[in-house]
Amino acid sequence: MNICICGAAGRMGKRLIACATKMENMKIVGAVDIPQCPLIGKDSGTVSGIEANGVLIADDLKSACENADAVIDFALADGILSRLAIYENANVAVVFGTTAVSEQGTAAIESASKKIPVIHAPNFSVGVNLLFDLAKNSAKILDENYDIEIVEMHHHHKKDAPSGTAVRLAEMVEEGRGLQKEEKRIYGREGDTGARPKGEIAVHSLRGGDVVGDHTVIFAADGERIELTHKASSRDAFAKGALRAARFLMGKKPGIYTMKDVLGM
Ligand code: NAD
Repeated sequence: MNICICGAAGRMGKRLIACATKMENMKIVGAVDIPQCPLIGKDSGTVSGIEANGVLIADDLKSACENADAVIDFALADGILSRLAIYENANVAVVFGTTAVSEQGTAAIESASKKIPVIHAPNFSVGVNLLFDLAKNSAKILDENYDIEIVEMHHHHKKDAPSGTAVRLAEMVEEGRGLQKEEKRIYGREGDTGARPKGEIAVHSLRGGDVVGDHTVIFAADGERIELTHKASSRDAFAKGALRAARFLMGKKPGIYTMKDVLGM
């Protein structure tokens, strides 16, 4: 299977290249980043800390997609519309890991999925996808006497907040409680906030150091507290899941698929 990585010089891009190289029947045929990236023209294997693979990091996404069966895109949300147009024209399957995608970007992904198979997930790790289900089911069982707080922590380079995973966790507990999206959701607290309203769902973002990604959903009642926690200690957890998703998309009809489909959950 021939794979092109978009966002190749990034933290995730490098791990995707390194992990793909270790997988059977998988080959990197394209590695793309932005023209301003200082690593343009460098070997994508060497940049990723593995042996040279002869695929240079380029800034021409269209050419890089030519021989690809699938693109794994962990670039940033800016420019997603033009990237999607290229993927549609190249007729390649796409695995999107990019977070903080606007409503317009999400609509464009949906529209592209009429022509090509697509997966867009805020988190590709197996553990977090299990956490989504655990959070939803717990919220279904634990009534409004259990205050829900979602806390995420990431490294100090992360540009968006809250994390896409924290937002998805909020959506999952909202589904569990039968609430509309963002119906009772708040982000952070400051000042004279008063007592906590019953049923509120609060999301908090911490940033620091080299934390790969921690997420906790707290259900706190009088007398007891349940905490569901996932900690990623390596980006390989996301990279391996995204590569598994790319393999899953091979031969699939156009449409939107999810990590639940990939993992058979
Ligand atoms: P990063 O900043 O290290 O890397 C992003 C790379 O994309 C950079 O090299 C940047 O130059 C490049 N880029 C930006 N715009 C581009 C464009 N239009 N075309 C080509 N390349 C472009 O960030 P990161 O830590 O690797 O994370 C990347 C994205 O993946 C973020 O949105 C992050 O939240 C998300 N992420 C998702 C998961 C998941 O499992 N879904 C896991 C980790 C990170």
